[in-house]
Amino acid sequence: MTDDESDRDDPGEDSPDAPAESLPEDPDAIRRALINWYEADHREYPWRETTDPYPILVSEVMSQQTQLDRVVDAWAAFLDRWPTVEALAAADRSDVVGFWTAHSLGYNNRAKYLREAAGQVMSEHGGSFPETPEELQELMGVGPYTANAVASFAFNDGDAVVDTNVKRVLYRAFDVPDDDAAFEAVASALMPEGGSRVWNNAIMELGGVACGKVPECDAAGCPWREWCHAYETGDFTAPDVPTQPEFEGSRRQMRGRVISTLKEYDELPLDDLGPRVRVDYSPDGEYGREWLRGLLSDLEDDGLVSVNDSGDGHAEPVARLRR
Ligand code: SF4
Repeated sequence: MTDDESDRDDPGEDSPDAPAESLPEDPDAIRRALINWYEADHREYPWRETTDPYPILVSEVMSQQTQLDRVVDAWAAFLDRWPTVEALAAADRSDVVGFWTAHSLGYNNRAKYLREAAGQVMSEHGGSFPETPEELQELMGVGPYTANAVASFAFNDGDAVVDTNVKRVLYRAFDVPDDDAAFEAVASALMPEGGSRVWNNAIMELGGVACGKVPECDAAGCPWREWCHAYETGDFTAPDVPTQPEFEGSRRQMRGRVISTLKEYDELPLDDLGPRVRVDYSPDGEYGREWLRGLLSDLEDDGLVSVNDSGDGHAEPVARLRR
């Protein structure tokens, strides 16, 4: 689930093969980096702690028009009142709609459909949710996005989620063209097989926490900086960010240049690296060794770069990418 729902449940086009030029060279490393980052720390939402499809469906429907932080209280109150799919199916429709209105959850039709979907689960599926995106879409009010989210988070059996946040991440990181079929193809190719639960959570977390409209590449410790096209070029526009967002200034861009230069050369003595990062680098100048050491120190703290001060027979410090 994401904070930005503007293109949820828009049926995409058929997914062709991923455009070859957009697929990163080392997808396994990219997958590992993202999953490790997500598992080390992520926002806690109660519906992430369960694999029960009923509360997951309720959270998905509520968040279609409501910010996640506001959904938390409404979701808990809803489940207090109707703790099971059976209870919701038996509820009075006006009570469910009344709850929806009282909690400012958007269109009342969503409340009606949710109750009807609960009725379908009881009458057509014997009280057990169907498990695949295709079957879940047969439930009232459940479109492709919601069906896929429930299939992923409840049954670990979904496809790659492609919403506004995911598109923004893929566009920036891998220069995927602004085209629904291309986004779907790359998102599908990146998702580890049989890993839709953790993957969809992780990539949406990346889009929500690190790669928002104003990206927080360094502050959020984005695990894709090493591969990210935007981080390398300094162009952080995206389909939903038409103009360059304002951010902390050129320092981030300079860090991106350090990373891209070291990707090309593997390792470089500082005075060879400096001029490739800034044309006006001069060892003792304003943009000199001290300034470069500051950048490298940030990147070392983030585990992206190491600086060897004495070893390997090099007289001067050598910076290299940590892999
Ligand atoms: S490095 Fe920045 S722009 Fe690139 S994916 Fe990470 S947060 Fe987004």
